[in-house]
Amino acid sequence: MQEYDLIIVGAGPAGSAAAMLAARRGMRCALLDKASFPRDKVCGDALSGKSMRLLDELGFLDPVLQLPGTVIHRVVFSSPDESVLEIDLRRHAELHPPSGGGTHRMEGKVVPRRTLDEFLLRQAQAAGAVIHEGCTVQELVFAGTQARRTCGGSKISGAGSAAPTSGACGPSGAAVAAGACGPSGAAPTSGACGPSGAAGATGGSGAMRSARIAGVRGTRADGSPFEFHSRLVLGCDGVTSLVARQSGLHQRGHRHCRIAARQYMRDVDGLTDQIELHFTHEVVPGYLWIFPAGEGLANIGLGLDCVDRKKRAMNPLQTLQEIIGAPRFRHRFRQARAVGRATGGHLPVGSIRRPCSGQGVLLLGDAAGLVDPFTGEGIGNALISAHLAVDTAAEAIVADDASAEFLRLYDQRLWDQLGSELRTSARLHRLSRCRPLFNWVVRRAAHSRELRDLIGAMMAGTESRTQLLHPWFYVRWLAG
Ligand SMILES: Cc1cc2nc3c(=O)[nH]c(=O)nc-3n(C[C@H](O)[C@H](O)[C@H](O)COP(=O)(O)OP(=O)(O)OC[C@H]3O[C@@H](n4cnc5c(N)ncnc54)[C@H](O)[C@@H]3O)c2cc1C
Repeated sequence: MQEYDLIIVGAGPAGSAAAMLAARRGMRCALLDKASFPRDKVCGDALSGKSMRLLDELGFLDPVLQLPGTVIHRVVFSSPDESVLEIDLRRHAELHPPSGGGTHRMEGKVVPRRTLDEFLLRQAQAAGAVIHEGCTVQELVFAGTQARRTCGGSKISGAGSAAPTSGACGPSGAAVAAGACGPSGAAPTSGACGPSGAAGATGGSGAMRSARIAGVRGTRADGSPFEFHSRLVLGCDGVTSLVARQSGLHQRGHRHCRIAARQYMRDVDGLTDQIELHFTHEVVPGYLWIFPAGEGLANIGLGLDCVDRKKRAMNPLQTLQEIIGAPRFRHRFRQARAVGRATGGHLPVGSIRRPCSGQGVLLLGDAAGLVDPFTGEGIGNALISAHLAVDTAAEAIVADDASAEFLRLYDQRLWDQLGSELRTSARLHRLSRCRPLFNWVVRRAAHSRELRDLIGAMMAGTESRTQLLHPWFYVRWLAG
């Protein structure tokens, strides 16, 4: 029995956007998260112009602008030699009006994820997705291994119908074939994008990859088990994705990963309508960020390349404290008070192409490893993957074909749309290791309105960032 068309594991931006889009198209979908909302998610909380445009497409621009937080009009970069470059996003909007007239919306916003993710989750619920909070998925259910008994008691007939409340069958009661992937034997331990960083590597046993994924099972916050079945499972469960591991699609490795530390603070000096990215010599090609999160709160953090961090034996939380205490920044933090504990997280960057589809399964957002390798932004690409995954899932349901061959269409669409941008960002990340070049670009742009406008256009996506990869770019600006 199919209870749902889609089971979506994880209610971050990828999962909630996918649930909302699927429910709007009349699909029966369940959105599961181990957390109860609102919940925090370690993040810089910045919505770039790209994320804002995608939220606009979902019809949420105005409500997101109304959420607590800070609307961003300027971006400040500083280089290792302490040169400072300021890009005014409003100027770009004036310079590049949309062809249909009016003004181009360029502003970004910093909204604490506690607020943003709760907002998106409730939009998915309002659209008709069935929400299961406090439900930790522990195992994928493979076709032929489903429990015989009807799970959850109630029959789910359509969008918005009541969620099953009791778990009639779960790990204990289920007739699970031995050797399916349970917590003990499931997760493949080798392969994918490990330290060697093999492109497109695929962990997991062939047996796991060839069986169709037909649902999930796990445990609710009260300890009761659950099991749900569906035609497709969307893995939106973030960087540590159980769905990616148990489907055998890929493993996490440190080669294509960044690590970041974040601390909320009050009374940081000089917070305005700007986000600040400081590429200090301690962390370049990573950076220290100072983002105004609204109501006097600042989101302060530091992102590092995982390979550099290992080589230099750095502790991101400690490095963050050292940098904000250094003479360059100390004056900003004289009155500052920490709010809550400093905490860290990983960012799986799209500097390799990971397989994101299998038998009955698609991976989205961080589970698919779509974070921009240069900027560290992941929310925009999570939203893009939601659109593409729901389009592909809808076609698979109509065709009654959830085979890996059919769903490979999703991989293709994802990389047609994001591949070139991710490749450029990965190369820019490598280029930014060259400190003299980085210093020179920031210094030159600080004194040239034309170059600032060009960088602003690259940030807005109206000029290609690939220009930065060509020697002629530097020759031209050296001569200019
Ligand atoms: C320190 C830091 C700073 C960042 N700053 C920015 C920024 O400023 N701007 C930006 O655009 N991006 C930023 N990113 C990246 C961004 O946070 C992610 O790309 C984005 O959250 C991806 O969304 P997602 O929906 O794929 O996954 P997530 O937001 O990670 O959501 C995954 C969800 O899955 C749930 N889940 C996980 N496992 C299970 C399970 N087994 N069962 C049930 N539920 C489960 C989790 O509870 C979670 O709610 C930052 C990341 C870090 C770590």
